[in-house]
Amino acid sequence: MKYVSRSCPVCGSSANIFLHLFSKDCWQTVKCQECSMVYIQNPPDYDTLSKDYEWNTSSANERKRRRNNRKVYYFFSDKARQIKRILRRHRRKEMISIDSLYNSGNFLDIGCGNGGTLKHINKKYTPYGIEISESLSKEANEYCIKNGGMVICADSYSGLQSFESSFFDIVLLRSYLEHEYQPLPVLREVNRVLKKDGIAIIKVPNFDCWNRRLRGLGWPGFRFPDHVNYFTPKTLKEIVEHSGLKIDNFSLMEHLPTSDNMWLYAKKGSE
Ligand SMILES: [Zn+2]
Repeated sequence: MKYVSRSCPVCGSSANIFLHLFSKDCWQTVKCQECSMVYIQNPPDYDTLSKDYEWNTSSANERKRRRNNRKVYYFFSDKARQIKRILRRHRRKEMISIDSLYNSGNFLDIGCGNGGTLKHINKKYTPYGIEISESLSKEANEYCIKNGGMVICADSYSGLQSFESSFFDIVLLRSYLEHEYQPLPVLREVNRVLKKDGIAIIKVPNFDCWNRRLRGLGWPGFRFPDHVNYFTPKTLKEIVEHSGLKIDNFSLMEHLPTSDNMWLYAKKGSE
């Protein structure tokens, strides 16, 4: 296995404090002394991630382990989720807003996995994806090619570089940015590939949520070493602003401390 040694992914500072309570095995979680970003300092490199920690395998194992440990909690949590889904007519929050955004356009899902989301977006959009895992990207690509788009098998930064500027109407970063050890260069590329009136939709776990404070290392947002960035509303806002993207909506409703996740909507800014 190969590791990367990195400084703060938000502000670049290498001054940090080791967080013993939020570290596990060899993975060192630290807090930046400049901007308070919490991150794994020694994440696995892309090659290791794509092979040893293929996202679907490691997340399925983790889900199984958590469920076995906390059966009663997950019984009630599943019920609550089912009710929320019925209220949203079985559509994810971000998918409802995507449906009503534009009449047509190019849609990019970064970290698209096997294309699950791409298969569910409205057919008026042309589906594109970037995925580091070879097996998952192959499956997603078969679907996208049939529908006028394609999936690039690469790390997100390299994948984004293969698209021309101002190409996408919508770029979705759903449960992705917490996995990326170079989030700032990726967001700068997102800003470049977005059209003038395009929108980037970001969903990440909220490290400041009450559930994390209550459950500590048992919080589902902790996944070693898949999750390498632990954003709070403050650090998410900062990294998006550093990238050049212009925040369109990040109201309190999008980062309520009662939810494990937060959503940020950004438009193209200056490059
Ligand atoms: Zn920092």
